[in-house]
Order: sequence, then structure tokens, then C-alpha cells
Amino acid sequence: MNNYKIETKCIQEGYKPENGEARVLPIYQSTTYKYESGEHLGKLFDLTAPGHMYTRISNPTVDYVEQKIAALEGGVGAMMVSSGQAASTSCVLNIANTGDNFVCSSSIYGGTTNLFAVTFKRLGIEIRFVTPGMTDDEIHALFDDRTRLVFGETIANPALDVFDIERFAAIAHSHNVPLVVDNTFATPVFCRPFEFGADIVVHSTTKYMDGHATVVGGVIVDSGKFDWAAAGKYPELTTPDESYHGVIYTEQFGAAAYITKARVQLLRDLGMSPQPMAAFILNLGLETLALRMERHFENGLAVAKYLENHPKVSWVNFPALQSSPEYEKCKKYLDGKTCGVVSFGVKGGREAAMKFMDSLSLANIVVHVADARTSVLHPASTTHRQLTDEQLVNAGIGADLVRMSVGIEHIDDIIADLENALSKVD
Ligand SMILES: *Cc1c(COP(=O)(O)O)cnc(C)c1O
Repeated sequence: MNNYKIETKCIQEGYKPENGEARVLPIYQSTTYKYESGEHLGKLFDLTAPGHMYTRISNPTVDYVEQKIAALEGGVGAMMVSSGQAASTSCVLNIANTGDNFVCSSSIYGGTTNLFAVTFKRLGIEIRFVTPGMTDDEIHALFDDRTRLVFGETIANPALDVFDIERFAAIAHSHNVPLVVDNTFATPVFCRPFEFGADIVVHSTTKYMDGHATVVGGVIVDSGKFDWAAAGKYPELTTPDESYHGVIYTEQFGAAAYITKARVQLLRDLGMSPQPMAAFILNLGLETLALRMERHFENGLAVAKYLENHPKVSWVNFPALQSSPEYEKCKKYLDGKTCGVVSFGVKGGREAAMKFMDSLSLANIVVHVADARTSVLHPASTTHRQLTDEQLVNAGIGADLVRMSVGIEHIDDIIADLENALSKVD
């Protein structure tokens, strides 16, 4: 890895052609690879030689994009999967088994809450939520000898709380467990959680990384910094894997033990693999990620300031506003910037919020966030409708909350659309 700035890494990392090769990342649309000898293939199966075996486990196009994302986050390796949900699933299953538990911020994406609180519960993995305002002592009390990790979201979707990464890294490490951070909304352009002590990063690449609402995907990135052997509670990484002739991941792969096991065991067995074409499209998005994030932020800030001064708006949440309770953490972790997502309350509650949304014309109502087009969503009646009232409060979502994903159109057009829609609300 070199010292390029993040804008340069977005373009130059990953695929690096040799003399006479295609300048742009090729699409290796192949499930299969050819070998000169059976012995060589045998080595691949024993994990004693590097190389591609089968596209369920790895593929050259996917591999180059994984290298780029690892470079953007500053990790030792990355594994792309078919969705953000698959990334959240496998980052936990890689190190937690039935009877284990993990500690998790309650301010996370609704889909992750369902996965952790419902589906993982069925597998016998218990989630212990950290609710807003808990003291360090209260959080420490959630841990026991079966706790395997701590999980949080850099900028929570949709509550927009900024996760106190250093604080949770210190708590996690005092119990010898890693901190996993979902960095989807911040992207490595605005925050690199490894620099603040996080050990594993996950993303839904479906959002800003793709940036054009074209391909669902996810990725796990390993910092390589967590010492699994010293922690003494991860036998799946430190004792022989019978499905690979007794490979011990920490011994054979060192700093890359976690991410290697995730790939050669979980991706092999569970099969939530990305398609080469999806990796190619994601790479196009990544090339302009830094440029787009700056514009999403500028436009988001202008919208937040406009709404803050509007008489029909009861409150605005945008972590980069000085009035935001998240502002100090936003300065510390995100250099005072944030993504283009603004949440706010329209005076008049649920009904007024619906009327406002129906009156927009440039901004569309979609079940998506974080792409080039401005869009809106009412989480309480859509993405988060499975949550109980108590879970809604803990996730920071009221019935009047409108989530606006500010795009990269001209700001004057976005504001004019807002102005018109707010004028329709009485
Ligand atoms: C969307 C999202 C996910 C889930 O990702 P998919 O790609 O939709 O499966 C996870 N975390 C966050 C923060 C998200 O916004």
C-alpha cells in the first residue's frame, strides 16, 4: 500500500494492469479456473498455495475490488458478499456460535436489528443492546465470558447518531473482544474506523459506494490488528479446521486469519457470493466515491440549514450542524462532515409528514438511501415498521421523522422542491 490520498485510492487502487493489458478492470465472467496439474489444485484445496478455485469462493474481478476497498479502509483484506445483510451475518457468524452473545448499539439499521434480534436469536446467539445514555459501567455489565464482539454503526441509519468508536473500542478491548463497525453511511472517505480502534468494518456497498442504486452488495474488511490467539476465546480461529486438513487460521494466515476464515469457510459453505458483474459495477461507483461524497455533504448541509429555519419544520437532525448533539463526535470522527442523509420532523406529525412527501416532485419516495438522486422515506411506516414502539424510540425514530437522502443534483432545484412541498402542508 502507498500513501496516496483517498481521492487517488478510489481511482488507482485495486486492479493495476501490466504491459499491454486492459486499462480498465476486466470482468472475469467465469465460474471456473484451469490448472496445469492436479497437484497444484490439491494445494489450493489445502490452502497452501494462493489462487482461485471456484467463483463461490473467489474471482479475479471481485478480488481487485476487494483490494481497493481494503486499501480505502486501511485493512489487510476484504471479502465482498452479495448484500449488506450478508456482511452483517457473516461478520458475526465467523466468530460466534450457539450459546454466545454480543453487545450491540441499539442505534442501527432496522434490517440489522431484525437479523440480530430475531434470526440470530433462533440460532441461539443472543444480542445485548446498548441503549442511548448508558454509562460505561452499565455497558461493562452486559459482558460475560460468552460475549464475542461489540457492534455499532458509524452514522446510524436513520437516527444519524454518531457512534463513539474510541469509547466502544476501549470497552470491547477491555473484555478481549473485537469492535465491528458498520461504516456504510460515512464511507471511508469521511471516516476510517480502524484509525479509531475498530477491528472489523462492514458495509452495505448498495448505498454510497455503488452510489447509483444499481447493485445490492456488501463487504467485510479486516484491520488485521485484533490478536485472536491472545484473546483466548476464538477456538474457530486458533484450533484446527478439519474441513481443511487441520489448518489453524491464526498460525497459517497471521494478521489475515479472520478474513481468510470468513472466505474459505463461510463463503464456501453459505454461498452468499457476489457476482463478477456486480463487482465491476461497484468499482465504477467507487471511482467517483470521494467526489460524490463531497457534493452529498455540501447539498445535505444546505438542506439542513434551510429546514432548520423553516417554520413548518419542528426539528432537524444533521450531525454536521452546530446545533446537533452529535456535532462534537462528527468533528472528531468525520472531520466535521457527514453523508447526505438529513432527518427532520414536519410539524403536524405522521399525517403532515405523509402530505409533505406526497407533494415532492424532484425527490422521489423510494426504499433506498444514499444514491445520486434525492429521495425521501418515512421509516416508521416502512423500513422500521416491524419494530416495536420501544425499539423505535431506542433506534431514535419518531412517527414524524422524514429521512431525506440528499442527492447530487443542483442545490437550487432541491430547495425549490422542498419549498413547494412544505407550502402544501397546513
Ligand atoms: C442498507 C443497510 C444495510 C443492509 O444492506 P443491504 O445491502 O440492503 O443488504 C446494512 N447496514 C446499513 C447501515 C444500511 O444502510
